[in-house]
Amino acid sequence: MIQLCPCGSTLSYQNCCNRIHQDQKLAETAEQLMRSRYAAFCLRLIDFLYDSFHPQTRRFQKKSEIEQWAKENNWQELQIVKSTTSTVEFKAYYMDLRGELHIHHEKSNFKRLNGIWYYYDGQLKA
Ligand SMILES: [Zn+2]
Repeated sequence: MIQLCPCGSTLSYQNCCNRIHQDQKLAETAEQLMRSRYAAFCLRLIDFLYDSFHPQTRRFQKKSEIEQWAKENNWQELQIVKSTTSTVEFKAYYMDLRGELHIHHEKSNFKRLNGIWYYYDGQLKA
């Protein structure tokens, strides 16, 4: 059975975000990296989530907190609202531990370093 990619691309996971999870530099655009980070939340790939933070902001992250955020929530769907060369605005739908549906609406900033895209930071949207 083909496993569809959790990022919602309608491609198989093998042909979509799995490639980027194996090798981050295969993300050719900020949006591809963003999608692969969403898929990593769904699949709880904590090391990938940590490593895809830009080195300048990674030091503020804790793997244990990323893991808790990934595990506590049941990720439902990703919607890309708008993407540019270095920003992606998205809505991620998730169910919390009590089964309530939430929307994480964020505009994220991405930066390239040595040809590799990284998540830099983001602003939550109301
Ligand atoms: Zn994907």
